[in-house]
Amino acid sequence: MSGEATVAEGEYLQTLYWLYEAGLPMTGANLARAMQLAAPTVHEMIGRLQRDGYITRAGDKTISFTDSGEREAAEIVSRHRLIERFLTDVLGIPWDEVHEEAERLEHAMSPVLEQRMRAAIGDARTCPHGHPINAGARIPGVPLADVALGARVVVLRFENEAEDLLRYLRDTGLEPGLEATVVESGEDRVVLEAADRRCAVTRSVAETVSVTADPSPPPRVALPEQLVLAAQRYGR
Ligand SMILES: [Zn+2]
Repeated sequence: MSGEATVAEGEYLQTLYWLYEAGLPMTGANLARAMQLAAPTVHEMIGRLQRDGYITRAGDKTISFTDSGEREAAEIVSRHRLIERFLTDVLGIPWDEVHEEAERLEHAMSPVLEQRMRAAIGDARTCPHGHPINAGARIPGVPLADVALGARVVVLRFENEAEDLLRYLRDTGLEPGLEATVVESGEDRVVLEAADRRCAVTRSVAETVSVTADPSPPPRVALPEQLVLAAQRYGR
């Protein structure tokens, strides 16, 4: 392996890490879906990541990180989340606008700037969408779609950070940390009632929202389709 990952490799490692954290199979197919790229393009990059020592592939094509690959991927993911938190908390940018900005900034950061940003965000532990800045330290949750009527929930995180989906979520009033009760859970939508607002989301969006719930349904990872596809597929 020759030094640091290229920008392109970094993008792939970051997406692989998302699949890994979400408990989804790390496969070329899921990667292609998540990045909305053609299979041959993804296949070529998987070969490169393997040659550069970031990943290995099993006989069934399942991808695993090498130690250095996992370290590199966690670093990229962590930096991304740190920048997002900096943009919302320090610069006051709305949380549905920071994901794309962070994508652009994360490649231009010096270690010194990163250190300063860490100091500036104080004790914030997650990105504004609820993902741990210390990558890998996820609080286990369940999809909102699985939660029974009448249950109390705390919104943990949004598993899909597609820009248009975040915009939709922001419009509904849902946000990480919100405490609410499930007052409707139908085929089409799930409705939450909090102290100061009522938030309704489509059932397919509720698949992408992780919560802790009381009573809690059994654990299940969100469906890969909902996690990785763009928002025009959300049935809105
Ligand atoms: Zn985020």
